[in-house]
Amino acid sequence: MAKVAINLATGSLQEKEIIVGIDLGTTNSLVAIVREDEGRRYPVALRETDGYTLVPSVVNFGKQGEVHVGNEARARLLTDPERTIYSVKRLMGKSYGDVQQDAGRFAYQVIDDDTETLVKVAIGNKFYSPIELSAQILQELKSRAEHLLKTPVTKAVITVPAYFNDTQRQATRDAGKLAGLDVLRIVNEPTAAALAYGLGMKQDEERIIAVYDLGGGTFDVSILRIAGGIFEVLATHGDTYLGGDDFDRVLGEELLRQQPSLDMKQAAVVQALRLTAEAVKKALSDNAVYEGEVAGRPIRVTREQFDALIQPFVARTLDSCRSALKDAGIQAKDVNAVVMVGGSTRVPLVKDSVRALFGRELFDALNPDEVVALGAAVQADILAGNNKDMLLLDVTPLSLGIETMGGLMDVLIPRNSKIPSKAGRQYTTQKDGQSAMAISVFQGERDLVADNRKLASFNLKGIPAMPAGLAKVEVVFLIDADGILKVSAKELRSGVAQTIDVQPQYGLTDAQVEQMLLDSMLHAKDDIARRALVEARTEAEQMLEVTQRFLNKHGAMMSEEERVLTHAHETAVRAAIAAEDKDAIHAATEAMNVATKPFAERLMDAALKAAMKGMQV
Ligand code: ADP
Ligand code: MG
Repeated sequence: MAKVAINLATGSLQEKEIIVGIDLGTTNSLVAIVREDEGRRYPVALRETDGYTLVPSVVNFGKQGEVHVGNEARARLLTDPERTIYSVKRLMGKSYGDVQQDAGRFAYQVIDDDTETLVKVAIGNKFYSPIELSAQILQELKSRAEHLLKTPVTKAVITVPAYFNDTQRQATRDAGKLAGLDVLRIVNEPTAAALAYGLGMKQDEERIIAVYDLGGGTFDVSILRIAGGIFEVLATHGDTYLGGDDFDRVLGEELLRQQPSLDMKQAAVVQALRLTAEAVKKALSDNAVYEGEVAGRPIRVTREQFDALIQPFVARTLDSCRSALKDAGIQAKDVNAVVMVGGSTRVPLVKDSVRALFGRELFDALNPDEVVALGAAVQADILAGNNKDMLLLDVTPLSLGIETMGGLMDVLIPRNSKIPSKAGRQYTTQKDGQSAMAISVFQGERDLVADNRKLASFNLKGIPAMPAGLAKVEVVFLIDADGILKVSAKELRSGVAQTIDVQPQYGLTDAQVEQMLLDSMLHAKDDIARRALVEARTEAEQMLEVTQRFLNKHGAMMSEEERVLTHAHETAVRAAIAAEDKDAIHAATEAMNVATKPFAERLMDAALKAAMKGMQV
C-alpha cells in the first residue's frame, strides 16, 4: 500500500517528506535542505527574510517565563548574564567533574552538587540539563524551518564534532527528540563539510581530505579517507578553547591600549568594545585597514597589526594539523583536498597559513559557516533515498572492552575500528553454581580497567546452577552508525539474556581521549608487567581455591604429613601473592602442583573407585 502525505500547512499533497540538515554549533546553528532545480539537486541554507542563515546558539529565559533564542538572546548576554545561556554544546554529555576547570568561563551557574552525574544549569530556581537547553535551540530552528518551508519538519540529520564520544552523541540525539525531531542520523561535522563539496560522492573516487574547522570558540582538524563512497575518520585533533573569540579578545585589548581611558566598569562600554572588536575583525577579513570609533573615540587597526596579534593562535592550529597528520600516519603532501569550515577561516592569515602548510589550494568557495549544515542536508537527502550509493563510516576513538578476572581489560572493539561495528566473545563462570555475572564496560587503552574509563555495568542474572567453567556467556558489542554502543550478554546453554544501551555516566573531552592514549603509550611496559602479575595471581588464587575444595572433600583421607605439606605450600603461594612477585608466584604455584600431584591423583583414583562401586551396587 502506498502512503500519501498531505502537507498540513498548505493542504497540498506532498510527494516526499523533507529531512533537514542541522548544524548545532557552539556559537551558531542553522538548518539546510536539498533543493531540486531543473533536475539538479543542491543544498541551500534556510534564510530568514532579514537575510541571515545563522541563529546564535544562545538561549535567554525571561523572568516571566518567556524564552528567547538566537539574536534576541545574544543581545541579552551582557544585560542578563545569569539567565542567558551560551556555548551549551560544551556541556553536552558532561559531568560537572568534566567541566570543573572550565566553570569560571561560564557567566551562568553550573550546578556542582554531584560530580559524577551530568551537569545542569541553574536559572533562577529552575534547573536545566544541556539536553533541554540544546532542545530549545533545536525547537527554534525547527519552527523557523516550518515557517519558511510552510510544511511540518519532523525529521533531521544533526552534526557533531568528530571527537564527540558516545554520551555526547546520545545527548545530541536526545535533544533532537525533545525538540520533536526524529533524528535519523548523527553525522560528523568534517564528514558533512566534505559532503557539501561533493567530495566522495563518486563510487570510484579515493581521496584523503583534511577538514580545518575554526569556529567561535573551538578548533578542530580531521583527516578523512574517502573510498568507494565510504567516509572514514583517520584522525582528529584540536583545541576546545581556541577560536574567533580569542581574536576578538586580543583585538579588544588592542583597542583598549589605543583608548585606555574607556570605562570598563560600565557594562555598556564592555559590550560596545566586544562588538566593535568583532566588527573590526570581520572588516579586516576584506580590508587592509579599519578606521572607526568605539564609545565615541577614534580607533585604527591595520591587517598587519591584527595578524601579529592572532599569530600565536594560528600557530597552535597548525601544530594541531601536524599532530593529526602524524596520528593518521600521513604527510601533508598526501592530502588531496583541504576543506575550510567555520566563520574564522575567513581571516586571510588563517587561509594563507593553512594553504602554506598543506601546499595546495583550499576548498573555501562555500560559505564557511554554512558548509556543515549544507553537508548535513546532503546526508539527509541520501537518507531520504535520493542518493542510494552512499554510506558513511567513522571510527571509534578509544578501545571498548569489558572487565575480566583480576581487573584486566579485555578489548572487544579496538580503537580506530570502523563503525558500525560488531564484536563478540565468550566468557564463563568462575564459581560452581554461579547464577549471575557482572558485565562492566570500559573505554581506554590501558591493560587494567582501573586505569580506563567505566562506561556502564550490568548483571546478567538467572544463569542456571552449573559447575564453574561450564556456563557459556556470550558478550556482544554493537556500535551503530551514530557511534552509539549496545552491549548484550547471553548465556548460551539456558538462553538467559540481557541487553543495554550504554549510557555512560559522564563523557570525555578530546583532551582526555588524547591523554588516555598518551598514558597507554607511556605505561605500555608497566602495563605488560602488571598484566603478567595479575594473570599469575589469578592462576594462583584459582589453584588455592581448587585445593581448598579438594581438602574439604577428601582431606579426611589424607595423611598428617600430606596435610602439613599442602599447608606449607599454600602458605608459600600466599606469601608470593602478597609480595606481588610474578616469578615467585609462578614458582610457588608450580612447586605446589608438583608436590601435591602424587597424593591428589591417588585420592582422586580412590574417590573415582568409590563412586564406581556405588554405581555397581
Ligand atoms: P561555531 O562552529 O563555533 O558555531 P562559526 O563557524 O559560526 O562557529 O564561527 C563563528 C566565528 O566566526 C565567530 O568568532 C565570528 O566572529 C567569526 N567570523 C564570522 N565572520 C567572520 C569574518 N568575516 N571574518 C572573521 N571572522 C568571522
Ligand atoms: Mg561549527
